[in-house]
Amino acid sequence: MKQYYNDFGTWLRQRFPYKVQKISIDAGFTCPNRDGLTGRGGCTYCDNRTFNPAYCNRKKTITEQLEDGKRFFSKKYPAMKYLAYFQAYTNTYSPLESLRRMYEEALSTEDVVGIVIGTRPDCMPEALLDYLEGLNKQTFVLVEYGIETANDRTLLHINRGHDFACSRSAVERTHARGILTGAHIILGLPEEDREESLRQAPIISALPIDILKIHQMQIIRGTRLAEEYVEHPFHLYTPQEYIELIVGYIQLLRKDLVLDRFVSQAPSDLLVAPKWGLKNYEFANLLMQHLRHTQAFQGQYARHSSGLLL
Ligand code: SF4
Repeated sequence: MKQYYNDFGTWLRQRFPYKVQKISIDAGFTCPNRDGLTGRGGCTYCDNRTFNPAYCNRKKTITEQLEDGKRFFSKKYPAMKYLAYFQAYTNTYSPLESLRRMYEEALSTEDVVGIVIGTRPDCMPEALLDYLEGLNKQTFVLVEYGIETANDRTLLHINRGHDFACSRSAVERTHARGILTGAHIILGLPEEDREESLRQAPIISALPIDILKIHQMQIIRGTRLAEEYVEHPFHLYTPQEYIELIVGYIQLLRKDLVLDRFVSQAPSDLLVAPKWGLKNYEFANLLMQHLRHTQAFQGQYARHSSGLLL
């Protein structure tokens, strides 16, 4: 299979001698942008129901959720190992002792070989980094920050409750501890067109991140953004436009950056727009077709064929 960028699956296979799958956990966190510490109402696009797979239920313990996830995945791959993915809400928003208990409960579950912690950039105190730095010496730890955009005006518009300087600081502080650092961004946020996304690509790429996750803008029923979209509709990408944007975006990124994913699939009953009707693998196939026919990537592939990775 030709490689046009460093994909997360291949990267994981190089780190682990067995197949590894993330299991999402809802550990019962809230979010400082919802409970009033930073803000109220949350980010305008946010609905955490879109994060959680069926086996993920905050009424269950972390161990129970992991065991449910393992049962789900091990039907297909019995020898699989797992990363506990603290995904829903802000997974560093609790006193250190309680975080330590949660992370270590996950890590003590059989066949769990590491943790992935999704959080906000303004929610990473030094004391927690001290702890994670130590934990990282014993097991796989990846901290994933919701950066969403490098544009402060957009961050204000979507009520993120932090600016890009805060994202940069969190990423730099985490990376400086030797902890794997990931970032999540959204392409197509209100007031951000293709040119704006391409302007931001080198800025995001210059951050000391290891892994980047990219999602298309989706409007979720019941969110403030859904109301805004009805009152002041803004352009949402078609699959073709989005693929062309991704192809342009990838070309502006560091070649060593690992790209985790490019699309997100909100449940259809929650999704207002855009209704692409594409499964993730169908999108991946379309993207691959496009990359194959993009001149810049044909050159990259020629180098890859001669032994150099893109
Ligand atoms: S997207 Fe994340 S940071 Fe924003 S309100 Fe939702 S949980 Fe909080």
